[in-house]
Amino acid sequence: MQLKEPQEVLLMGPGPSPVHPEVLHAMSWNTLGHLDPDFMEIMNQTTDLIRYVFETENQVTLPISGTGSAGMEAALVNMLEPGDKAIICVNGVFGTRMADVASRCGAEVIEVKAQWGSPIEYEDVKKALQANDNVKIVGIVHAETSTGVMQSLEPIVEVAHQYDALVIADTVTSLGGLPVKVDQRGLDVVYSGTQKCISCPPGLAPLTLNERALAAFKARKNAVQSWYLDLSMLTRYWGEERFYHHTAPVNMIYALFAALTLIKEEGLQARFDRHLLNSKALVKGFESLGLEMLTPETYRLPSLHAVKIPEGVNDTDVRGRLRKEHNIEIGGGLGPFKGNVWRVGLMGHGSQQANVERLLNSLAEVLQSLGHNCSGKEAIAAAEQVYKADS
Ligand SMILES: *Cc1c(COP(=O)(O)O)cnc(C)c1O
Repeated sequence: MQLKEPQEVLLMGPGPSPVHPEVLHAMSWNTLGHLDPDFMEIMNQTTDLIRYVFETENQVTLPISGTGSAGMEAALVNMLEPGDKAIICVNGVFGTRMADVASRCGAEVIEVKAQWGSPIEYEDVKKALQANDNVKIVGIVHAETSTGVMQSLEPIVEVAHQYDALVIADTVTSLGGLPVKVDQRGLDVVYSGTQKCISCPPGLAPLTLNERALAAFKARKNAVQSWYLDLSMLTRYWGEERFYHHTAPVNMIYALFAALTLIKEEGLQARFDRHLLNSKALVKGFESLGLEMLTPETYRLPSLHAVKIPEGVNDTDVRGRLRKEHNIEIGGGLGPFKGNVWRVGLMGHGSQQANVERLLNSLAEVLQSLGHNCSGKEAIAAAEQVYKADS
C-alpha cells in the first residue's frame, strides 16, 4: 500500500492539540466488539475518569460520539423543547454557535451579549432573567476559544438558580487545563471535547448532567428531536443495561481512556499549575517581542492566547511561514478579529516549556525577516525569568 504518514507538526493553535504518544498507541489497540466484556470494562473506567476531570459524582456522565460541537448539540437538544426560553450568553464564536443550536431546537432564544474579548457581565444575565419569566436554561461558555476570555461561572450559576433556570456550560477549552469543578459550582449540564486540553484526537465529547437537569429531561413533553443524541437511549447503552443504540467508536474510546489516565497520573492541580506557568512564560515572551495581548491577565485563559498582530505584519504570511519553515501551527483570528489577532494554544500535552521557547524563537525569526525589530534570545530569557521565579 502507498500510504504516507503526514509529518509531525507542533500544534499550537486553537485545537487539536498535541497528542501524547501513549494515546496514539492506545488508538491502535485491537478493536473489540462494542458489547464485548473487555470493552465494557474500559467503558466503565473511562466514565469514572470523565467524572474525575469534571470533578463530579453525576451518574449520567458519558462521552458523546462526535466532536465538541456534538457535545453542545447533545446538551441543548436534550434540555430544550420547542417554545422553551433559553438565555444564551454571546461574546464570541462559540456563544454565537450555542444560540444558533438553541434556536434550531425551537427555543425562544434571549441573547445576553458582551463585546468580543470581554467576559459576560453577571448583571446583564440577571436583568435578562428579571425581564423574562420561565427561562429554562442559561447557556454560557467557560473558555471562549475565539477570544481567549475566561468566564467566571459562580455568579451566573447563583443567579440562574435563583430564577429556577439550569446552567449549561461549554468547557471545551477548559476541561483538563483549568478547574471546571462541576459539583462545587453547581453546573447542571456540562460538555467538553477531547481535542483541546485533554490532548486526545478530535472525536468525542464528554458530557455530564446532574439530578436537577435529569429531572427536567424526564419532564419533557416531546421526544428529543435528535435520534442519535437522545440521552434516554444513550444512557441505556452507557448504563448497566448495555442496550445497543449505535456502535461506540471503540478505538476513540481507547484514546480517551489513555488520555484521561495520563491526566489522573499527573493530577488535576499539577496540570492546572503547569498550564498557568507556561501561559505566563509565553505572555512574557510575547511582550518581549513587542506583542500585545488582547485580554488582560484577570480573565485571560491559560490554554488559549489571543495576541494582537503588530501594525504592518501580514497574518497569513506569518502563519504560513511558521507552518512551512518551522512546522508549527498557530491559529488566526475569527469574526471581528480576523487578520488582527493570532490564537496560540498551550493545551494539555502541548503546554510545555520547550514548546513555549520553540515558538518564541521561530516567531522572532519570522517577524525579524519581515522587518519587525525583536529578539528571540531576549524573548526566551523573559520566559525563563518566569520559570526561575517559580522554581
Ligand atoms: C473547539 C470548541 C468547540 C467545538 O468543538 P469541535 O471539536 O470543533 O466540534 C465548542 N466550544 C468551544 C469553546 C470550543 O473551543
